[in-house]
Amino acid sequence: MWKCPKCGRSFKKENQSHYCGKAPETVDEYILAQDEGIRDQLLSIRSVLKSELPDATEKISWSMPTYWKGHNIIHFAAAKKHIGLYPGPEAVEHFAEKLDQAGCPYSKGAIRIPCSVELPLSLIAEIAAWCRDTGNHP
Ligand SMILES: [Zn+2]
Repeated sequence: MWKCPKCGRSFKKENQSHYCGKAPETVDEYILAQDEGIRDQLLSIRSVLKSELPDATEKISWSMPTYWKGHNIIHFAAAKKHIGLYPGPEAVEHFAEKLDQAGCPYSKGAIRIPCSVELPLSLIAEIAAWCRDTGNHP
């Protein structure tokens, strides 16, 4: 176990990266808490999701920005060298080929958008619309 000297939270891994201090309660707070270098990308993703999911509620769920309408539709999260997008396993399967083309690795339910690739905003829009139209993808 490793205990962060700043916030006192305990983690399995030493120097586990995490948000020190009070957990963000809104997506604005979440984005502001991230490294400056990644904020623009997060804001772009957010604006795509908001325009594809205009009637979804934006909130923090599982410590991630989340779009919710009766159930969680999609989450995203910032990491050091990538942004995670979590549309559920079916969506990932459905878009596997396009994700390969965009240079984004993926695993069950999770897509990694490396900071080194151009943000695939139209693909993100397509994925969000697919999640919106096909229902529940926890
Ligand atoms: Zn800490």
